[in-house]
Amino acid sequence: MALITAIAIAPVNCKVEILSDSQGAINIFNNILNNSLGKNKKNEISNNNNMILTLVAQQIIKELKLQISLVKVKAHSGIKYNELADCLAQVSTISPFQDPRISINSYSLNQLKVIPRWKNITLDYSIKIATKKLNKEIWTQKWLRQNRIRWWIHTNKAKNVNWDLTWKVVHPSKISSLTSGFREASSRKFSLKLLNDELPTLSNLHKRNPLLYKTNQCPFCQIEIENNIHIFTCSSQTGINPLEELKEKFKKILIHEAANILQLKLNLESLKKKLDIYTNDFDLRNQHLMEFDQICFLDIIAGLIPNSLALLFKEIMGNSKDGKLVVLRSMYKLKLLLFQLWKYRCEKFLIWERSQNIKAKDKKLGRKKPNNTSTMIDESIDMRVYDDVIYDQQQQTKNLQICNYDMDYGSGEKRNSFNTAVHYAKHWLYAKILSGISIKGTSRFYKTN
Ligand SMILES: [Zn+2]
Repeated sequence: MALITAIAIAPVNCKVEILSDSQGAINIFNNILNNSLGKNKKNEISNNNNMILTLVAQQIIKELKLQISLVKVKAHSGIKYNELADCLAQVSTISPFQDPRISINSYSLNQLKVIPRWKNITLDYSIKIATKKLNKEIWTQKWLRQNRIRWWIHTNKAKNVNWDLTWKVVHPSKISSLTSGFREASSRKFSLKLLNDELPTLSNLHKRNPLLYKTNQCPFCQIEIENNIHIFTCSSQTGINPLEELKEKFKKILIHEAANILQLKLNLESLKKKLDIYTNDFDLRNQHLMEFDQICFLDIIAGLIPNSLALLFKEIMGNSKDGKLVVLRSMYKLKLLLFQLWKYRCEKFLIWERSQNIKAKDKKLGRKKPNNTSTMIDESIDMRVYDDVIYDQQQQTKNLQICNYDMDYGSGEKRNSFNTAVHYAKHWLYAKILSGISIKGTSRFYKTN
């Protein structure tokens, strides 16, 4: 963008020498000068990044008849004008979009017939990548706006989460990949259920079948409600805080993974010190911690990865790629560890169920509930047949004016049959759509966004 501005203000027919400290910008510009674009015009729009910038630069160079040469200078080396440019380029971090910015009027481009846009923003990305990013963002936002998530991940907290890594941990391989394995599938299942609070814990079982599971309190400590977090913090068996052990294991995993990549270059002492500071409050097990903006260890257990962890390992490993790799691998291992704990809890839970006289047969009975409703539908279908007969009779005997309170379809309030119900349901739905309630309900995300 800075380079474009530089050539845009140049006088016609002259030689321009641009000094820049960004090798990336120079590379892009060299590509423009060599005119490597335009060889395969078909893919230009869909695949090329910085397409608009490229075309703008080409057009300016052509119209002003410029001759351009680029020189790389070292950044922050005391060259007067480079420092000045750096100063000017500073954008205030508090309100990055408030200052007036230079933007390209994409309508003035004469080479391009189609301009990719989204909500009036010209896309200078390849369409493929832009769509992918947009879609990902939309689904993340939809997920975040569920009631079950909203109470613990709110807007401020979501900013502290590294979503890229978080989703990668949940889905070890691409969900559309053709190879799959039982181990990976079970790990994926466990992670997703843990994150969405769908594990068959007693609080969920009590919600689903309150007749069979009369309480949602943890059967082992009988103090707290047993939810997806409590299963890892319950101290009934050993009497000590299980989070302390988990924290130590997590630290060991992180060190191990870092050592695997760094090998001999690893400074073990400083790494241990940094991790000690980082995991200082990881043994707090009050679940209200999850409602704050900070990401605590309980959040990490549930599956979120904080930006701070990724940053810490970027600093330790020296580059962000290795840092991410360490975090990813460690999180997989932590998930396996948690899975073992969950399995152990399930074994204990089965024994508890037996002691409570809850048998497999009863559990299945609870699930069979929908059967009852299906018999009800059968009955109402019978009634409908009956109604139709009456309706036919009504039409035949209309002239005879036999007063039958059962026959009025539109306003038959005295009747309680299937047809009337359908009739009213249709009216209700129609009214609802007209008044806009259901439209509002489904598109809440788009409005609030
Ligand atoms: Zn407990």
